[in-house]
Amino acid sequence: MTDLKYLVPEYIQAINPYLPGKPISELARELGLDDIIKLASNENPRGPSPAAVKAIHAALPELTRYPDGNGFELKAALSTRYDLPADWIVLGNGSNDLLEMASLVFLHPGVSAVYSQHAFAVYPLATQARGATRIEVPAREFGHDLAAMKAAIRPDTRLMFIANPNNPTGTSIDPAALEAFVASVPEHVVVVLDEAYNEYLPAGHEMHSAGWVKRHPRLIVTRTFSKAYGLAALRVGYGLMRPELADLFNRVRQPFNVNSLALVAAHAALGDQAYLEASRCENAAGLKQLMTGFEKLGVAYIPSAGNFICAKVGDAPKVYQALLKAGIIVRPVSNYGMPEYLRITVGLAEENERFLAALAGARKV
Ligand SMILES: *Cc1c(COP(=O)(O)O)cnc(C)c1O
Repeated sequence: MTDLKYLVPEYIQAINPYLPGKPISELARELGLDDIIKLASNENPRGPSPAAVKAIHAALPELTRYPDGNGFELKAALSTRYDLPADWIVLGNGSNDLLEMASLVFLHPGVSAVYSQHAFAVYPLATQARGATRIEVPAREFGHDLAAMKAAIRPDTRLMFIANPNNPTGTSIDPAALEAFVASVPEHVVVVLDEAYNEYLPAGHEMHSAGWVKRHPRLIVTRTFSKAYGLAALRVGYGLMRPELADLFNRVRQPFNVNSLALVAAHAALGDQAYLEASRCENAAGLKQLMTGFEKLGVAYIPSAGNFICAKVGDAPKVYQALLKAGIIVRPVSNYGMPEYLRITVGLAEENERFLAALAGARKV
């Protein structure tokens, strides 16, 4: 057999594949457990909005048809929500798809992308997959060091990724400081502002970044229905950007990248503000519950603006394994350069309770 290595660029061979959270079904197979809770992938613990489920049922008879490749109705709803024309919106198969499209449009061997240490794993992945140079800037107190990120920009830099709030650390940036930063980035760099957790920001700390794209021609804001909107399985997200940028994205976008069930469910979920508000409140209470629990156990944590929190548990692989045996899946973050931490997604109150009890047990052994 031909050695495949001769057929494949070195930058593809050098990719470290994305490590997803362990699926419940996998742990069930491995340990024969049936009462498993997953606090590993920042999913909404409430289950989907009933409005989304209803919309999916109504759309089932049309499954033989291709979806609307232009996502007209969902874009129209987003257009109204954000007061942006529909051609300023690009839909994606998850917001991950938007990050990939950005890399396809702007990156290739010989150019570079800047992102922060401890930031979302897809930024180095998407950069590496295009053969572009990765510039990882050391974090500051686990958050983005914007001044250092700006200083790291080179003449060949084309993209900068900013996650706000950041996953996995949960840090967030003051809105005014962030917009001033975006305005200060040199003209040869496009900023991708990844706001997968935007909807969890507490009242008074909202980011009005959807409107920023009108003022900043090289800004792309990405958001998702996977987290607070509770539709992770469907894979649907969107990017807000000027039409000149959207036009470029549409050139690399797969023709039917968002499926028809995702389109109708996302549209319905967008209209269910009560679900979103309840999710936000429940998450705030759950974060408090986890922080109080960590303090009781003497476990340090990084304050979080998302629906997850990183706790410094010491021997993280050992604690992770002990939690698995107790039927609780959390997320190791050693691949994010945080070997002593685990990331815990905020669950329902009883799930958080069960996790804290198991953590107490795991730290004793
Ligand atoms: C979860 C997540 C995403 C992407 O999620 P999708 O399901 O693809 O929309 C993007 N960025 C960050 C920081 C995330 O945590």
